[in-house]
Amino acid sequence: MSHPNGSNASRWYSLGWDPRGPALVLRIHPEFARQAKAIPDDSHFIVGLREKFGLRGFSGDLNGQFGFEGVFTREDPEDGFVRFKVPIPVLNNDVGPCKYSGDGSDTPHEECTDCMGTGRKWVFNDHLAHAIVASFHAFLEVIGSLTLDTDHPEPQLMQVFTSLGDGCYDLRGMFSPFLRGYLSTLPIGMRIQEVERAMYVAYSQIFGSPKPYVPDHFRASVDHAEGWLNISCPGLDFSRITPVRDSFSRSLAFIRGYDFVSDGVTTPAHQLVLCAGLGALDDLARPFWHTWRAATRDAIAKAVTEFA
Ligand SMILES: [Zn+2]
Repeated sequence: MSHPNGSNASRWYSLGWDPRGPALVLRIHPEFARQAKAIPDDSHFIVGLREKFGLRGFSGDLNGQFGFEGVFTREDPEDGFVRFKVPIPVLNNDVGPCKYSGDGSDTPHEECTDCMGTGRKWVFNDHLAHAIVASFHAFLEVIGSLTLDTDHPEPQLMQVFTSLGDGCYDLRGMFSPFLRGYLSTLPIGMRIQEVERAMYVAYSQIFGSPKPYVPDHFRASVDHAEGWLNISCPGLDFSRITPVRDSFSRSLAFIRGYDFVSDGVTTPAHQLVLCAGLGALDDLARPFWHTWRAATRDAIAKAVTEFA
């Protein structure tokens, strides 16, 4: 298996986004699904996640059911690819009026820091949030550890890994040369609305109405030449994904992809929101590959000639 950052590995999985639902979508090459051994429910890795987050049932078979607490839904295959949906639920629940403000209190709702002016008490479903991000983490570890070359004509566009727990829910991974090639064609500063909208929809679904959100707080834009993509959503400050500067080689822009990391991702909810954005980006870029493949080949040939 060639490294998707440095070359053009063929597609073995992809992320996606379905705004109806809404849901993250995972697609897995059937050969990979066949070769992936089911993760035993009593493996060290799964027991560790279960104990850390108080999770219960786990299924670890990519050919059957996958995930903690049944949070992945197996769907019909698509173009032969095994497909799972990960519905994004409402995680912030209204459980009644706020007892610190409003009627019988000196504090009006507008000044209340407990309910943020909503007059309602909100409880975040930590258990379900962790069941989802732990399932996603297990999936990415399994799929990222397999080595097999497929003959699929499309390239792998990105590879993603997640961290879990202790106030740190970071994402890291690689954007492939082809994805970078696509990003390079976008005008500098142009907002990628598909990615921003996916994050906004995921965020709105997760948090419900209590937090004031402004669509403009969700940003995805190529801010520097040669495909430098920044993605952010509202977090403690802002949760964001940025390129790793050292991996962003300008002289080999069309041959090298680059690595990305996140910062400010302090809750499972924010990790899910950023994943929604990455899913939308994978969906958006993939069809373009068919049209710019020839142009990219020419660009690679030119870059190699100039570099030599
Ligand atoms: Zn209140």
